[in-house]
Amino acid sequence: MIDLRSDTVTRPTAEMREAMANAEVGDDVYGEDPSVIELEEHAAQLAGKEAALFVTSGTQGNQAAVLTHMRQGEELIMDDRAHLFLYEGGATAAFAGVQSRTLSSEKGQILPADIAGAIRPNDVHFPDTGLIWLENTHNKSGGSVLSADYLKEVKALADRYGIPVHIDGARIFNASIAAGVPVEEFARHATTIQFCLSKGLGAPVGSILAGDRAFIERARKWRKRLGGGLRQAGVIAAPALLALKNGFDFISQDHEHASILAEAISNMEGLTVMNEVETNMIMMDTFETGLSSEDWVSELKKQNILAVSFGPFTVRLTTHRDISRTDISRATDGIMKALHQLKG
Ligand SMILES: *Cc1c(COP(=O)(O)O)cnc(C)c1O
Repeated sequence: MIDLRSDTVTRPTAEMREAMANAEVGDDVYGEDPSVIELEEHAAQLAGKEAALFVTSGTQGNQAAVLTHMRQGEELIMDDRAHLFLYEGGATAAFAGVQSRTLSSEKGQILPADIAGAIRPNDVHFPDTGLIWLENTHNKSGGSVLSADYLKEVKALADRYGIPVHIDGARIFNASIAAGVPVEEFARHATTIQFCLSKGLGAPVGSILAGDRAFIERARKWRKRLGGGLRQAGVIAAPALLALKNGFDFISQDHEHASILAEAISNMEGLTVMNEVETNMIMMDTFETGLSSEDWVSELKKQNILAVSFGPFTVRLTTHRDISRTDISRATDGIMKALHQLKG
């Protein structure tokens, strides 16, 4: 099977498993796991923030961020296709009791004027705007990158109103590699950032939430409340630390693979690539084949390719660390075969 459903499907490398087996551990709820401490310190440095917190998942990191930044009844500004809005089970409403103010965006880029227009004036009728949320890379747009210049503009705007900015940087390493900009440069224009260790980096479990020391201490309590206080977590921190320390240049290969596959797909009759393919995702439009994305996903499976439906006629294909150049050639052949099968 060539698994192109997500970059979350990677298996830990042999080196990572060795790091897991040899990890020094302690009880992290007591702050005594050396591997977790090292990971948090390294991640904070990488993000250019004072402190970082190792969390179980991107969702937990995002939710801990919302809970730490906001109070019940406040309003959260984000784009209407944000992962937080679409794919986190309504957790912000369920846990934080905040109101979502969703704005339309161009590939995750909300016009600064629209953000300014959505910030609530001080009036007894209105909720207070508690947080501005941006996603980089933007998942629903097919992994598009928000530039550091754009982030800088939004941060300057937010600063004028004294509102914090959070970056959901589940795939910030992809953004970093694609834009040639260090993660720190993106994170500088945000109060806090969450990034996944379990996606492009290929680590088995976990995410990082980074910000200033006081914020991270309060977030640590929210993590505990959310059930994310882990004990000998060094066994999962060690492979993540390895992934961060060894550098993530290999991500450029994932981007190259996506671009090669996208090029091949766009030459196939009836199939179009809807996105620009800036990073590791391809949004394949099946409309002209007359078949739904669900039909495509099941036919692709028969050709040993796993993909996900991302809309009635949209199939998402994601490259990652466990996909080789040979897999890309095989995937190209498989998609071609599926096309012949489906068009009978
Ligand atoms: C995957 C993802 C998350 C959530 O991460 P999990 O580890 O799956 O909980 C959050 N935001 C974005 C943009 C993502 O792609």
